[in-house]
Amino acid sequence: IVQFKNVHKSFGDVEVLKGIDLDISPSEKVAIIGPSGSGKTTIIRMLMTLEKITSGDIIVDGQNLWKMEKNGSMVEANQKHLRSIRGDIGMVFQHFNLFPHMTILENCMTAPIHVKKEEKTEVRKRSIQMLERVGLGDKLDNYPNQLSGGQKQRVAMARALVMRPKVMLFDEVTSALDPELVGEVLEVIRDIAKNDDMAMILVTHEMDFALDIADKVVFLDEGVIAESGSASQVIEHSQNERLQSFLSRFR
Ligand code: ATP
Repeated sequence: IVQFKNVHKSFGDVEVLKGIDLDISPSEKVAIIGPSGSGKTTIIRMLMTLEKITSGDIIVDGQNLWKMEKNGSMVEANQKHLRSIRGDIGMVFQHFNLFPHMTILENCMTAPIHVKKEEKTEVRKRSIQMLERVGLGDKLDNYPNQLSGGQKQRVAMARALVMRPKVMLFDEVTSALDPELVGEVLEVIRDIAKNDDMAMILVTHEMDFALDIADKVVFLDEGVIAESGSASQVIEHSQNERLQSFLSRFR
């Protein structure tokens, strides 16, 4: 469903991604690990189409997101496709990004109604189902500031799921949480990973969690994929010294 082919990304003179090749199949769960500054968030932002690439190809659902103009700059390959892709990709951020002036039910309903132009009654029903699924069925009319960080993050997940995305992106979704709230959020992701068919890409520092749910783990180091393979190969059996030293910080 997602392919990166020799993707490069520079900010000014600084090359942050130096030729990324990555192939993610429709129901695959992929964890991206790596040191701070290695480019993990940049990969996620490029998939969200929030960030253009400098060169290479990102292909989603069979179509390129960007194409290179004669002068070397990248532009949307197809604006209509890009718009529809945005509706197919769900994202959960580190800092929740809920709408503060809306109840949590309204937070879930707004994009399907206003972006996908879906029918309100059906969206409402689905939103309630999703909020129940993440354990917040009794908080529908609460506002975000009445919830704990873990609860907010679960709302963010329900909100993404209501869009029925083909790909879900999770960018360090537990790193802003108090330690005692991490478990409940991982539990919801685990439930999605085990029961839903969509592709998932997670940037995470939770190695045990990655081992448990990821089909594939990618170690990003200084803008290149230094190691990629099954979770057990990469996290438990790699001989790569930089990876081993990175992993030793989590033991
Ligand atoms: P972390 O784990 O700390 O979140 P990361 O692996 O997600 O790190 P990125 O956020 O992708 O890393 O950043 C990679 C590099 O790109 C960093 O050196 C960062 O400073 C740089 N960078 C990211 N966004 C921009 C930007 N908009 N302008 C300039 N430099 C940027």
